[in-house]
Amino acid sequence: MTNDLAEFARAKSVKYFMISYTDLFGGQRAKLVPAQAIGGMQKEGAGFAGFATWLDLTPAHPDMLAVPDPDSVIQLPWKPEVAWVAATCVMDDKLVEQAPRNTLKRVIEEAARDGMHVKTGIEAEFFLISPDGSAISDQYDTASKPCYDQQAVMRRYDVIAEICDHMLTLGWGPYQNDHEDANGQFEMNWTFDHALATADKHSFFKFMVKSIAEKHGLRATFMPKPFQGLTGNGCHAHISVWDETGRTNVFADNSQELGLSAKGRNFLGGIMKHASALAAITNPTVNSYKRINAPRTISGATWAPNTVTWTGNNRTHMVRVPGPGRFELRLPDGAANPYLLQAVIIAAGLDGIRSKADPGKRYDIDMYQFGHTVTDAPKLPLNLLDALREFDNDKSLKTALGEEFSSAYLKLKQQEWNSYASHFTQWERDHTLDI
Ligand code: ADP
Ligand code: MG
Ligand code: MG
Ligand code: MG
Ligand code: MG
Repeated sequence: MTNDLAEFARAKSVKYFMISYTDLFGGQRAKLVPAQAIGGMQKEGAGFAGFATWLDLTPAHPDMLAVPDPDSVIQLPWKPEVAWVAATCVMDDKLVEQAPRNTLKRVIEEAARDGMHVKTGIEAEFFLISPDGSAISDQYDTASKPCYDQQAVMRRYDVIAEICDHMLTLGWGPYQNDHEDANGQFEMNWTFDHALATADKHSFFKFMVKSIAEKHGLRATFMPKPFQGLTGNGCHAHISVWDETGRTNVFADNSQELGLSAKGRNFLGGIMKHASALAAITNPTVNSYKRINAPRTISGATWAPNTVTWTGNNRTHMVRVPGPGRFELRLPDGAANPYLLQAVIIAAGLDGIRSKADPGKRYDIDMYQFGHTVTDAPKLPLNLLDALREFDNDKSLKTALGEEFSSAYLKLKQQEWNSYASHFTQWERDHTLDI
């Protein structure tokens, strides 16, 4: 495919490009640029006032330029006259270090220097809800165990099939779609890819799901715990590492425990070692902590972890090794920034490999029922503040992600926590008024 976006526009009859970048809170920001102007934009970038988005820039900073990365361009299957393209954020001829896609690219390059090419797949669960956001959209979707509900998934066939058709058109290799464990919740799976490609697809998937839902008069949410008592939106990540050729999975070794090579074990060791700190990124909102550490849901299980433990093919732990040559991190949720999710996994794993970290004891118990018997595994952070403090105390993880990024992220997230903590709730009145 051509790298010249003007030529791309001519060949595909594209009228507009969305030059898009993702800020620290995961928001996607874009300018809609007519194809006639894309040639100049591809050289110079589209100008943005960085302060107007979550990047820890001031109003006095010069313009931030978003330079489209032609490798990422995707023609919108539901509106082919528009193409989305992820951008590289630049200011004063230098990369904006804290821009999440730049952070991820830097960590990927670092891993590549050690001969590691990370491939990942993600499972971005979502709810289809009413346009005002107050309830699920299907009044008949009321089963107490709604997972894989055949009737309910078919009531949303028009939305789900339209999205899946688009993934087929885009060549993402989608292979299954289902109703998930909460009423109103769905999951759609496509094939794993290099970490940067997965992050771009993850961003685009969220944009696409929301767009198609809106087209059908609905709304889609990836919020970690949108409804009390129902299973939340996870965003599990499956991880493997490959050699330069991309053909040999260096995590696979059938002679080792669960088919995970020594390298895979050390990478996993890094995830275990940094788990409480990386939660600040994989579980980045106040609401995230209502999904993990949650009481049992109506369906019988939260399917989310509470503790830093790992296991074989058992979904009650933070990490599951479902088969040889990969593992699944079940901690991340739907609020995770697609780029920072990949970046923090690679940074923690790389540190694990370099320090030959051991993942510790493997537990094969039902963690939901017998979790209290595991006394030596750390509890995951109980709230966002807890996680931010863990992240702030994890010097090596902060360094691996970059100082500019880490301090910008901590600053903005601490502000978010402060805003939440100063918010008065009905709960306080109910429990304190008559004290
Ligand atoms: P489950 O619900 O059982 O956890 P899914 O089928 O929903 O699993 O999702 C599995 C994800 O893992 C998919 O994105 C898939 O492409 C990805 N995956 C499979 N094998 C690998 C691998 N070797 N490395 C990285 N990701 C993988
Ligand atoms: Mg203006
Ligand atoms: Mg799944
Ligand atoms: Mg799921
Ligand atoms: Mg999973």
